[in-house]
Amino acid sequence: MVMNVVKENIEVRIYPAKAQRNDKGEKIVNISAVESNIGISRFIYNKELEFINDFKRLLVYYGYDVDKIIVNDKSCNVILNMLKQEYSFIENAESSSIQQSQRDFIRAMINFYNVNLKAQFPVYKSKKTNKETFRIINNNNNVRIQKDKYGYDKIKLAKLGLVKFKTSKKYLKLLHQASDKYDSTVKIKHVTVKKVNDKYYAVFNIKRIHTPEKIIGPLQQVGIDIGCGKLAVLSNTQEIANLDLRYEAEKIIQYQKEMSHRKPGSTRYLKAKKQLNKWYTKLINKRNDYYDKITNYIVKNSSFIAVQNENIIAWKQNSHFSKKVQLNAPRIFLDKLEYKCQREGVEFIKVPKHFPSTQICCECGNKNKSVAGIGKIGIREWDCPHCNAHHDRDVNASKNILKKGLKMTVGTTVQ
Ligand SMILES: [Zn+2]
Repeated sequence: MVMNVVKENIEVRIYPAKAQRNDKGEKIVNISAVESNIGISRFIYNKELEFINDFKRLLVYYGYDVDKIIVNDKSCNVILNMLKQEYSFIENAESSSIQQSQRDFIRAMINFYNVNLKAQFPVYKSKKTNKETFRIINNNNNVRIQKDKYGYDKIKLAKLGLVKFKTSKKYLKLLHQASDKYDSTVKIKHVTVKKVNDKYYAVFNIKRIHTPEKIIGPLQQVGIDIGCGKLAVLSNTQEIANLDLRYEAEKIIQYQKEMSHRKPGSTRYLKAKKQLNKWYTKLINKRNDYYDKITNYIVKNSSFIAVQNENIIAWKQNSHFSKKVQLNAPRIFLDKLEYKCQREGVEFIKVPKHFPSTQICCECGNKNKSVAGIGKIGIREWDCPHCNAHHDRDVNASKNILKKGLKMTVGTTVQ
């Protein structure tokens, strides 16, 4: 499986204000609220640790064996509820930051009991020795970029409000994309607010589906092998991964099954049908979005494109490929590519299906029959028996597709 999900952190300087609201009455991120969230996060961690330490002491006192104390969400929630009753200021903190602080504590305990990690027993966090941070989980897009009533971009940090920020153009673009709930390729998972030398920062943890940004080699004239393990391989050696649609596919199968167990027309049947349609739409939107981004990128960077659509029917007979190929629709990808080439005036050539792009050595032009056929699809790399050139199967094929495509255009001009 080719990995196509990239996780990264984007650090942005933020400027919490002294005021609680701006002149238009919008709630803005206030310094004391940030400080209090940092303090409460640390407080919860320390109090839960204190509770566990007390509990351990008590067990020892009564002669129990305290090899291991199981600390999990359930036990910590009990402690947290007691703390909330005793210290009402906890309610002022962002709820997901409280949860996160507790999770950090549970993680520290689990790490301690994991013999492989050789972690220390958790210690109390102090203002001096520990980073001053708290973390907000992005639930329902409550962490995002949005315009304030003056029309300026601000970061919205859940119920803390809006905050002024500074960042590069590149990050700004990415954050805008991540804030768009209809864009499924970039998502903000959580944001860590931190204070360093009296300056404040928001560190966004972003998950994105990888689309190529850097041009590895000159594109201009490009051959594309519409692969089976990958979505496409370009003649500049760039590989484009298939989208991971397993989660959506699982949901679709789940609701299809549910429908088959219900009486047609019944409330439960219709409910399952509604869910099925919802997940089906999600899958299609996600796929279209991904294909649009990639085809835009290729078309924008090319003046000539040659493609060969490998025998998709042949893969379908091979059960190993069938599902992935159906979820990832190379035909739709190709149609989009062709349509955009026409729109942008980029020359687009389809190389015939029977052209043996995978067997020809792109260096010397000789055929290597030993890599031919569906059974040999597992051979990812080979050495040319004629000139000894070492080839990646798909890159070699895409280079041959480019050559063939260029020849074909010459042919038509002569006629
Ligand atoms: Zn060769």
